[in-house]
Amino acid sequence: MKKRIVIVFTGGTISMEIDESMEAAVPSKKGEALIKRIQEFSDIAELSFDHFLSVPSPYISISDMLSLSRRVKSHLADPNTDGVIITHGTDTMEETAYFLDLNIHNDKPIILVGSMRNISELGYDGPSNLVAALRTAISDEAKGRGVLVVMNNDINAANEVMKTHTMALDTFKSLEFGPLGIVDHDKVIFYRNSTHRRLHIPADRVEERVFLIKLAAGMDGELIDYAVNQKAKGIVIEALGRGNVPPQVVPSIKRAIEEGIYVILVSRCPMGRIADTYGYVGGSKHLKSLGVIFGYNLSGQKARIQLMLGLGYRQDPDYIRSIFEME
Ligand code: ASP
Repeated sequence: MKKRIVIVFTGGTISMEIDESMEAAVPSKKGEALIKRIQEFSDIAELSFDHFLSVPSPYISISDMLSLSRRVKSHLADPNTDGVIITHGTDTMEETAYFLDLNIHNDKPIILVGSMRNISELGYDGPSNLVAALRTAISDEAKGRGVLVVMNNDINAANEVMKTHTMALDTFKSLEFGPLGIVDHDKVIFYRNSTHRRLHIPADRVEERVFLIKLAAGMDGELIDYAVNQKAKGIVIEALGRGNVPPQVVPSIKRAIEEGIYVILVSRCPMGRIADTYGYVGGSKHLKSLGVIFGYNLSGQKARIQLMLGLGYRQDPDYIRSIFEME
């Protein structure tokens, strides 16, 4: 029997075309119509469509992610549904994917897919990416792996993947360990399991007052002070290297912690973990002694999503520490 897959549309380049007057890509009805045509030439699954949103992904808000999560959960609750595919712009795809991965506890495949080229461009990659996503969604091997991102025939786990290039078709990468698997014509092949332990945060609200601040050489704590003054509930700091900050940032971090703000430390390096290697003032070990929580190898944008969901679920220091420091 054919598997039943729901395709939820949210927008993105996969459903955009060039508007001649603007000479730029904008959301288009044609994109969705073209995607729907895969039903005509694909006999691999029974499809149904859900028009959830039609926006570029920089428009996707955190509350959109929460509503999308509810929508996906309701599709998955239908015993006739075997999996869900979400079409999404690539700019914020990794964040929506990670949000859903944390929030939805279900072994049925959930796949995010998009395209790097729009329908007016030569080599539009929407239909081929969507067929690869479909093949993954109907694969028994894809069950229980959390939310997956399928682009350019690579299958990546939501908790590892990052958009790494502004225009390349193979932009989505799990930089440290490579993709979980590939789609090779009609075959879906998994080479490995995700390296990260799966985390479930069953929040039905999010705490949006979480700031993400990237540090660079010579910066001081002004932006952190701003977040504190703005009544932040949490601050994610993208620190240098193994998790270090310039010494003049330290008083602001101290103040944030004293005010009861959760401060999560990650690295601005795209690969590797932070660790308490350095003991000098502003070094990661010193920051840990002040009460900073380590986000290990999460990117800043994923740590922010995790903190928003975590605080939405339980504003309790032990709980928040446990979801970041579990390894
Ligand atoms: N700016 C587009 C978006 O994220 C890019 C894309 O979809 O590839 O909606």
